[in-house]
Amino acid sequence: MQVYADNAATTKMSKKSFETTVSYMENEYGNPSSLYTIGQKAQEALVSARESIAGNLGCEPREITFTSGGSEADNQAIVSAAEIGIKKGKKHIISTEFEHHAVLHTLDKLKKRGFEITLLPVHSDGLVRVGELSKAIRPDTVLVTIMFANNEIGTLQPIAEIGKLCKEKGVIFHTDAVQAVGHVKVNVKELNIDMLSMSAHKFHGPKGAGLLYARKGILLSSIIEGGAQERGKRAGTENVPAIVGMAAAFTESCENMDANYQYVKGLRDILIDELSKIPHSKINGSVEKRLPGNVNICFEGIEGESLLLLLDDKGVSASSGSACTSGSLDPSHVLLALGLPHEIAHGSLRLSLSEYNTEEEVKHIIKVVPEVVEYLRSMSPVWKDLKEGRKEYVI
Ligand SMILES: *Cc1c(COP(=O)(O)O)cnc(C)c1O
Repeated sequence: MQVYADNAATTKMSKKSFETTVSYMENEYGNPSSLYTIGQKAQEALVSARESIAGNLGCEPREITFTSGGSEADNQAIVSAAEIGIKKGKKHIISTEFEHHAVLHTLDKLKKRGFEITLLPVHSDGLVRVGELSKAIRPDTVLVTIMFANNEIGTLQPIAEIGKLCKEKGVIFHTDAVQAVGHVKVNVKELNIDMLSMSAHKFHGPKGAGLLYARKGILLSSIIEGGAQERGKRAGTENVPAIVGMAAAFTESCENMDANYQYVKGLRDILIDELSKIPHSKINGSVEKRLPGNVNICFEGIEGESLLLLLDDKGVSASSGSACTSGSLDPSHVLLALGLPHEIAHGSLRLSLSEYNTEEEVKHIIKVVPEVVEYLRSMSPVWKDLKEGRKEYVI
């Protein structure tokens, strides 16, 4: 049995999104900037994609700038706020320790340009405290950037309270909502969000399409220079097939959100209940304030990488909290931010479900994970030390 349980990394395209995307590659392939009919058809498709997405986000179509995905949107949001800050003489930015690297690395760059960055701590429940944010805001704070839902542990931050606070204090509020949109209700006006990043491939749309929402009145700086596409805020011929595919996927996700939420959460809760029975394991982050599809669990005495490879052999695609993509064996900055010791953070497993997963698949996961954990522990010198009392269990 093959089980894809890494939907936080990317998702399979929905049939509708796929068909829409392909039809714009095959038939309506004109350049939206061209004046002849086939170009204008592409232009009209962009207009209606922008309108439908805006309707679902609760904003105006003109407040949306299409990008190549979530990373670009995060970069542009932060760089734009920094430019605004420079004009106003405000060079302080607040974020959190467990943001996506698209945010953290952009902030690192700004630090070299003289910005002061405050990273709020994340508590062991995987949540930031609004009281701590409030204390951190200063007269020279230009931007607060806090993710809506964390990509590793799925915790949902108190976005409504953060938005309200930032509005009262006159600070721009950006949220990386890549993991949240299409999965939980996000209305930018109701939540007082000034800027928001999203990405199509996290909700069954195509890779290479995303957007930055910026409230009217917030001047975006372009980070790609060239033609006048996207009202001069993002040069380059628009990726029309992917953008219309994103709009189709977003519409579908929003229409089916309540049913998907209940279904996926049901599967997730079975996983959490069953996997927590493995001795010396721990679910990371709040279970209540969490995305419906996310399970993140640590097992003492084993390594995430070996766990993943053995699970892959048994047909389960999952992810670990270690930065294996970068070729390093550093444990995840997210799990360390929660206060987990290195050796525990190394033994983490992230399973992220979508509405395409079935109950049979969940049963398969529940069967193979304990087997693999037991097998790895049987070979682990650390586990031997723990079992024989030469070392203390941490969890
Ligand atoms: C996936 C992801 C991104 C990056 O989005 P891309 O479209 O792949 O560039 C940014 N932030 C979060 C929270 C993500 O999960």
